[in-house]
This record gives sequence, structure tokens and C-alpha cells, in this order.
Amino acid sequence: MPPDTAPLHLLAHLQAQLQARDDQHLRRRLRVVGTSSISTPPLAFCSNDYLGLRQHPAVVQALVDGAQRYGAGSGASHLVSGHTTAHAALEDAFAAWAAPCIPGARALSLGSGYAANMAVLTALGDKHATIFSDKLNHASIVDGTQLAQAEVVRYPHANTAWLAARLAACTTPIKIIVTDAVFSMDGTIAPLAELLHLAQQHDAWLVVDDAHGIGVLGPQGRGTLAHLGLCSERFIYIGTFGKAVGVAGACVAAHPLVIDWLINAARTYIYTTAEPPALACAVQASLAVIASPPGDALRARLQAHVAQLRTALADASGAVAARGWQLVPSTTAIQPLVVGSNATAVALAQALEAQGIWVPAIRPPTVPVGTARLRIVLSAAHTTAEVEQLLAALTHAARTLPELAYKNI
Ligand SMILES: *Cc1c(COP(=O)(O)O)cnc(C)c1O
Repeated sequence: MPPDTAPLHLLAHLQAQLQARDDQHLRRRLRVVGTSSISTPPLAFCSNDYLGLRQHPAVVQALVDGAQRYGAGSGASHLVSGHTTAHAALEDAFAAWAAPCIPGARALSLGSGYAANMAVLTALGDKHATIFSDKLNHASIVDGTQLAQAEVVRYPHANTAWLAARLAACTTPIKIIVTDAVFSMDGTIAPLAELLHLAQQHDAWLVVDDAHGIGVLGPQGRGTLAHLGLCSERFIYIGTFGKAVGVAGACVAAHPLVIDWLINAARTYIYTTAEPPALACAVQASLAVIASPPGDALRARLQAHVAQLRTALADASGAVAARGWQLVPSTTAIQPLVVGSNATAVALAQALEAQGIWVPAIRPPTVPVGTARLRIVLSAAHTTAEVEQLLAALTHAARTLPELAYKNI
């Protein structure tokens, strides 16, 4: 019997939508990576492995040992029989990690940062609540607010005056402010001290997603709250473990009652298989490296690369500056070069690729229209020579790339 073929009109519907994305230079495609190294060609400046810990022998060994002890998977959801001593140990470690910023915190381990944001926002954002969310927040926060029953107010990026007025006018009994600590497409840090002040004034929770700060910022890499020296029981702090930590998963640290409520009400926690215990073992090993003196050395190396890139591209006589391409004022590993139009961003990414360098072009809707960019991401796993290679390739592209129509499609 011939196979049942897909209905033509269903396929045509998808084809038309993909074609529209193609026409706007917005089509996304997968790339298969065959190696774990950042510097086998093409030389990659797009990994979130900011400290190179994905390859750290102690982290990899902890994963192997964890799998041998607990098996490959957890076998069930946390509330059934999947919650192992490995998860519990990680939660204790993360609660202690966050304690200087959230006194008396408890922690909850989840399978991903995406699931963690969904969990917090849907469980706390009930119909008695209003969620105030920065317009540049990560997609997982946006999705969490959309699924929550709460009223949602998206405030202009980092605009605390605007937010203050809306908080003052808010009449729901529960208020929740949510923000990325480090904005993922800009690398800039949220005005967390002001946000905390507003949260205090208006009796709100302050949810902080530190996906890009943990491991990188603060004493011992403890993250953005520690970096800014902030401390409050109203913080609900989300650390994700797929980036600088080099593994996968996430923990929420918060007041013990918040954690108890998440265990009871957060559907992305309850109705999913617990993450493999071996991952929790590897995350614990990685957090130990991050907080140790070798972790300090990795952060120093990363900061040296940031300084090298910024100093070179700030040179007004350079070819990159002459094109009007500008780095976002970021002090973190994320160093986006804003070029304007989608077409320019794509052409520049291709020009770099032709020189053996991989930096993705980021376009709307991920970033605002007219601010298409190369999202350059530096890592302690890079060498000084490799950053130099990136700079040379950028200069070459800036000199040779034809002027493209500045139509911001
Ligand atoms: C990557 C990211 C997430 C998602 O974390 P995963 O663990 O990869 O699911 C959430 N928030 C921000 C700001 C991120 O950059």
C-alpha cells in the first residue's frame, strides 16, 4: 500500500509562511555541530559556555559518576519517584549559594530555565496578580506571562519611572516584577537596585532571571544580585545551568513558602519527568569550580577578552567604526555589534563565515526592528589570538562588504 501522503493544502500553508520568512531574511536553519570545541573551525563566538566549563574534567567526571550511580534517567516526575538525593543535594547547594542575597532561601531544581520561568510566573501569577515584565525579557518569561492568569503589564526596557507609575496605579493585591538580570541580546544589566526599591515601595515580588550572570558576575561568580550587593527576601532568583555552568537545568531560589507553592502549583515542574540526576551531580561540581580560585582565573580571562574586543572596536579610525557599526555598552560576555538592517547583519555573518568565524546574526522579532546585530559572545575558552582573529575578520568585512539597502525589513 502506498504511504498516506501529507495533504497538499496543509503543506502549502507552511510553505507560504516559510517563504515569507525567507523573503525577510528571517528564516531560521539548524546547523549541526560535530565537535565540542569552541575553536575547531569555524571558530565560534556564539556559545553561552562563557567559562569553558562544559569541558571541565571535574564536571564531565561528575556527570559520568552520577550516571553510574543513578542511571541515565530519573524514571519519574519529582513528585512521584524521580526526586533523588542528587537533586536534593543540588537544591541545598543552590539555596546556600543564594543565601547571601535571599536570607533563609530554599531552592527547587527544574529541567531548564525555560521551565523555571514558566513555573514561577504561572504559579505566582494567578488572577489576583499583576505581572510587570520588561519588554526585552527573554522569550521564556514572555511565554510564562502569557500562560499566567494574571494581568500583564510590559514596561519599556529598564524604564523604572514608567514602571513606578504603573505600580502606583495597580489595584490587584499581588504584584510581581520580572526581569532578566543580564539582557540576553544586549549583555546589559537590569537596574536591579531601583527595581528592588520599587518592589519594596509597592509590596511586590521581584523575579530575577540570571541566565547570563551566574558564574560570570559577582564575587565567586555568584551572579548579578551578589555583583550588585543586593539582599531581600522578596527576590525569586532563577539560575540556569546551561550557560556558564556548562551543563543544563535550572534552580529557583526563594522564600521557603514560594518553593512549597511551586511544588504544589507549578505545572512545568509537576507534569514533567525529573531531569536526570547525573545532571544535578555535574551542576554541583561546576558550581564548586565557579566559586573556587580557578573560577576567578576563568572570569579574569573572560574580562581580558572583553577589554581586548571593546578597545579595538572603539577605535574611531577603524573600519568597523567607520561603517557605523557599534558595540552595545556591555561589560558581560555578550558583546553585540549592532549593524541596523537584517540584510547587513546576514551579509556580515556570511562574510565572517567565509573567513572561518561563526557569529550569528540576530534579527527581529528577537531584537527590535532596525537593530539587527551580530551577537558576539566571548568565552574564557577563547585565546587572545582567537579574539584577534575575530577583530581582523571584522575589519576585513567592514572594508569589503558592499553598502546594502538600509531598508529595515
Ligand atoms: C537561555 C535563557 C533562558 C532559558 O534557559 P534554558 O535553561 O536554556 O531553558 C531563560 N532566560 C534567559 C534570560 C536566557 O537567556
